[in-house]
Amino acid sequence: MPQIDIFDTTLRDGEQSAGINLNTAEKIEIARQLERFGATIIESGFPAASPGDFDAVQRIAGTVKNSIVTGLARSMKSDIDRTWNALKGAEQPHIHIFLATSPIHMEHKLMKTPEQVVEIAVESVKYARQFFPLVQWSAEDASRSDPEFLAHIIRKVIEAGATTINLPDTVGYATPQEYGAMFKYMTEHVSGIEKVKLSAHCHNDLGMATANTLAAIENGATQIEGTINGIGERAGNVALEEIAVALHIRKQIYNTETGINLHEIKRTSQLVSQLTGSLIQPNKAVVGKNAFAHESGIHQDGMLKNPLTYEIITPELIGDASTELVLGKHSGRHAFRDRAVKMGFELSEEKLNKAFTEFKKLADRKKEIVEDDLYVLLTDQQINDTETPVYKLDSVQVQYGTANIPTATASAYHPNGDMIREAATGAGSVEAIFNTLERIVEGKVHILDYRVTSIGKGRDALGEAVINMTYNGETVTGRDVAQDVLEATAKAYLNAVNRQIIKTGQKIKIAAV
Ligand SMILES: [Zn+2]
Repeated sequence: MPQIDIFDTTLRDGEQSAGINLNTAEKIEIARQLERFGATIIESGFPAASPGDFDAVQRIAGTVKNSIVTGLARSMKSDIDRTWNALKGAEQPHIHIFLATSPIHMEHKLMKTPEQVVEIAVESVKYARQFFPLVQWSAEDASRSDPEFLAHIIRKVIEAGATTINLPDTVGYATPQEYGAMFKYMTEHVSGIEKVKLSAHCHNDLGMATANTLAAIENGATQIEGTINGIGERAGNVALEEIAVALHIRKQIYNTETGINLHEIKRTSQLVSQLTGSLIQPNKAVVGKNAFAHESGIHQDGMLKNPLTYEIITPELIGDASTELVLGKHSGRHAFRDRAVKMGFELSEEKLNKAFTEFKKLADRKKEIVEDDLYVLLTDQQINDTETPVYKLDSVQVQYGTANIPTATASAYHPNGDMIREAATGAGSVEAIFNTLERIVEGKVHILDYRVTSIGKGRDALGEAVINMTYNGETVTGRDVAQDVLEATAKAYLNAVNRQIIKTGQKIKIAAV
């Protein structure tokens, strides 16, 4: 069967979503999981955007060996140089260069004539090929470009040495019929296109990203780009897990293979949701909490008689078997370490010890420790490697009663090492905590959104708090987990502030593919 390459852009296009700010350790953790997931290519960031992005791309290129690592660059020498510096240590250095080709982008954004755009594209690809064996060129806003002009510029960049051509539906405007037709047109009108990879990149503004991507595959695309859980700017990118499962379940129709390890889907999805703080809607295809829940009596009856009556995908297919009891209160260090290794973690002795201490604390309060709990606990240790001094919660206490004014008292360490104690009231317990922490933290905080969810099932499940705020004018999301949701809330608040402190530079937010 022909192979479709999976190009994952969770760490670039996904990370561009409002409020998502991953630090380098978190990006590396996601990249390692994407490698296990089986992504052919991992787009790890935009090296010219900030020193933080550069560092993350460089470190991912040094860590990941079984997937190709790429970085995004604008069509300019300085971006290409910076990307080369970040990626020259990679197993197979790959660069992703883009330039807009639609009339509206060329005229109003680039302020260039079509001839000038062709010249810039050709120059940048030629320049990149001096360093990179693999050069992907993207026609930004391809789906709103003139097909004849698009065919012309593609011909030119292939001659210049591009090894992959990407035709994004940048603004999520195309219908499946139109998007498929564009791929068919290019395969029929561009000589030499059979020698390069042809890539689809769909956004979900009209809810058509999955259908558009599949239409591209039916019409000659050999690579598809997307993100885990479909995160991304605005309505997001196509969800890779949906494509991988659709191609698997409907093999007879699509007749292709992806090399994706379907059993890693659930874990990859959970990790991305956990670290980005973007929750997955319960009815989301493939990875939603309810994706396998059969509620109606007729369905349940049918399922009992024969699961195939209503179930086209099984939870096992995507590796969703995380409810099993794994460790208990009396499990020792060895059992804990074995389990961590089995779950794919490679922790230093120091981090393993810290994780074990946390596990013991949790096991004292929670009867059954399931894999979901361990996963959260181990991931938290793995990504915790900052040397920048940050705020650290020491204690939080809340007084609440229906007849009282909610009052919170908290103590925390300032980045300079001082212990600060404050107290404040609020209309509710959460607001009282927010008001107290606002007195502790220097700088201006404005809360945009706040959510609490449970991890795993049961009444003693861990609580996860996610807070989206602006801190000194920048949007940032913080999250943390604790057995008590109020403690998780206080920690998530400081986590958001700390992320902004650690961040090494401002992101360049440009409309990119
Ligand atoms: Zn995109």
